[in-house]
Amino acid sequence: MLDANKREHTNSYYAASQRDKEPFPTLSGEVTTDVCIIGGGLTGVSAALELAEQQRDVVLLEANRIGWGASGRNGGQVIGGYGGKLTNKPKATDARHGPGTNDKLIAMGQEGVDIIKDRIKNYQIECDLKWGFLNVALKPREMDDLAEWYEELEQQGYEHEIKMIDRDGLKDYLKTDRYIGGMSDMGWGHLQVLDLVKGEARAAHNLGAQIYEQTVATEIEQGSTITIKTENGTVRAKHLLLCGNAYLAAMAPKLAPKLTKYILPATSYIIATEPLSDEQVANVMPRNYAVCDQRTALDYFRLSADNRMLFGGLSNYSATAPLSITKTLRRKMLKVFPQLADAQIEHYWGGRMGISFRRVPQLGQLADNVYYAQAYSGHGVAPTHMSGRLLVEAINGRRDRFDILANEQHVPFPGFGLIRQSMYAVGMSFYKMRDAVL
Ligand SMILES: Cc1cc2nc3c(=O)[nH]c(=O)nc-3n(C[C@H](O)[C@H](O)[C@H](O)COP(=O)(O)OP(=O)(O)OC[C@H]3O[C@@H](n4cnc5c(N)ncnc54)[C@H](O)[C@@H]3O)c2cc1C
Repeated sequence: MLDANKREHTNSYYAASQRDKEPFPTLSGEVTTDVCIIGGGLTGVSAALELAEQQRDVVLLEANRIGWGASGRNGGQVIGGYGGKLTNKPKATDARHGPGTNDKLIAMGQEGVDIIKDRIKNYQIECDLKWGFLNVALKPREMDDLAEWYEELEQQGYEHEIKMIDRDGLKDYLKTDRYIGGMSDMGWGHLQVLDLVKGEARAAHNLGAQIYEQTVATEIEQGSTITIKTENGTVRAKHLLLCGNAYLAAMAPKLAPKLTKYILPATSYIIATEPLSDEQVANVMPRNYAVCDQRTALDYFRLSADNRMLFGGLSNYSATAPLSITKTLRRKMLKVFPQLADAQIEHYWGGRMGISFRRVPQLGQLADNVYYAQAYSGHGVAPTHMSGRLLVEAINGRRDRFDILANEQHVPFPGFGLIRQSMYAVGMSFYKMRDAVL
């Protein structure tokens, strides 16, 4: 468990530029509620806001600060899609879950993005939202995959503008020779993600949700009324949502050990430069779209509202931090933009994401009234919003969409603790090697 001084936000660009720094209280004493949520990341907060909008009685417990985990540390890239690799095999997915399932997943992939858009508008959340996204290719094989994807989106009648861009065309977006082309998508974008999650928490609170920070849920006793114990208090609830994702096991190892074996915590890192001048911006990313390459251990980058280059990557599955995050990530950034050689690095940080074996988000139940959602495998800003909605639908007795994911079998990672982590690191090295040679 973390000691008190580690319960503040990590030293990220997001924490430094956060607009709403007003904390929520810590729970002491006893409260009774309809729904208790453990975990104040995007999944938990999204569900809390959905419940508060429905005038449900809800209590959210966050061990540290709202958005302290992956949700307040990520690349801020709003990427559509839901169901992970399920949507890569539409026929198999429809055969397993019934005709039309793949279409439902595709619609949910868009709904996650729309929830964010609607909330920013409805609750006037200031979080620097900017539309525009580029999937870029390093190799002809990746360019072929993007072209195939483009065709699929066109056939599905995707509502946003998408374009295939060749090497020369890409120069209008990115001043680099590193990529051979890409696909742009005006339906995806980027934002200040800690401001988003805090803004949503504030909106839920204003609608009556009780939110407690620096409140670790240490134990649960199941029953028709669930008892959730915290260090200085107790919550009694009819329903419980477990939304601790890759941090749940670290915060309270005994809380839900059944969930731990299905999720592998992997760390990804980001550096933020000093603010770039207008001239530098024009010389690196004049259109300021969010960018991802296509590798398993990918580079992802974008500019912040104050023109810092936020460059992420270095996914690490081996449970040990890379020796020098700044040095290694800076080297990667300079491979894309050598013209940033003089830009100072002002922030660096990392965060844990939950990886599932099959790269499909995990939703399900541990009991009739205990639900969970986790394991977005590095792609969660929009999908967490869809999960929040699905958890609430399930509580309300609507199961058709929740069950698509809940009926998927979760595959446990073999081994225990560090052995498990090391085995996976070896497996990931294979994919990194494959990306390097093919
Ligand atoms: C560096 C990095 C970059 C990423 N970039 C992107 C990106 O650009 N785009 C994208 O779509 N996705 C990205 N992701 C993934 C995305 O951030 C996650 O999928 C998403 O934030 C998961 O949200 P969550 O709410 O499920 O989990 P988290 O945000 O990790 O929240 C879990 C919360 O639960 C709390 N908690 C755990 N146990 C307890 C307990 N016992 N009691 C109380 N509280 C508890 C934790 O303190 C934590 O705040 C990235 C992730 C990382 C780490």
